[in-house]
Amino acid sequence: MRVPIIAGNWKMFKTVEEAIALVSELSKKVQDVEGVEIVVCPPFTALDAVNEVLNDSQIVTGAQNMFWAKEGAYTGEVSPVMIKNVGCKYVILGHSERREYFGETDETINKKIKSAFEHALIPILCVGEKLEQREAGLTEQVVRTQTEGALAGIPAGQVSQLVIAYEPVWAIGTGKTASDEDAQKVVAYIRKVIAELYEADTAQQVRILYGGSVKPENIAGLMKQPDIDGALVGGASLDAESFARIVRFKW
Ligand code: PEP
Repeated sequence: MRVPIIAGNWKMFKTVEEAIALVSELSKKVQDVEGVEIVVCPPFTALDAVNEVLNDSQIVTGAQNMFWAKEGAYTGEVSPVMIKNVGCKYVILGHSERREYFGETDETINKKIKSAFEHALIPILCVGEKLEQREAGLTEQVVRTQTEGALAGIPAGQVSQLVIAYEPVWAIGTGKTASDEDAQKVVAYIRKVIAELYEADTAQQVRILYGGSVKPENIAGLMKQPDIDGALVGGASLDAESFARIVRFKW
């Protein structure tokens, strides 16, 4: 059985004080929740403080990005060792905003995924098509290329622990969500790609989330889909009440 995950991507929001206030409120609201893994991904500057606050909580943390090297002369970068050292369990890799604004490619994402596993961090790999690619009928081709590229050379034992977030770029921060059926179709296709690259068993273990304008109002329909194992939530994760309502959805 795949344990569902609801992960919040805070992007470039929240100072340390604001981050502490948000997780303090959130942890009260979800303290009785069982059967779902709750992940928050604050900006780097707040990771240490948030991990301190969450010490006894069931909520775990992830970083939003990392560099692949362990250490070195890479001004402005943050290493997997540093992320692990402040207590993170997960790291988001290949988010469409990183691909779009910071030149991330399937090759660099692949290096980061290898490094994350080497440092006992679980990657949340983001894949998804742009609007023009969807309209040109290229959705499957795009998610296949991104998935194959990101996973090149990664052994099955690691892939089975991986989390993938299918995030159609046109649905991120736009208020537009893929229909439940469309999201299910693409998520099932990603699982099929993994079954082809590895084995059916491995594909059945990978948790695949949907992301793109998830809100308390649309989580129920998405979670009814057999292949969707949770959500990566951007905007709605910045508000404790909204995120808690998404987490508290009865599976
Ligand atoms: C995201 O940033 O990963 C995301 C899904 O954002 P939003 O929920 O705001 O669309």
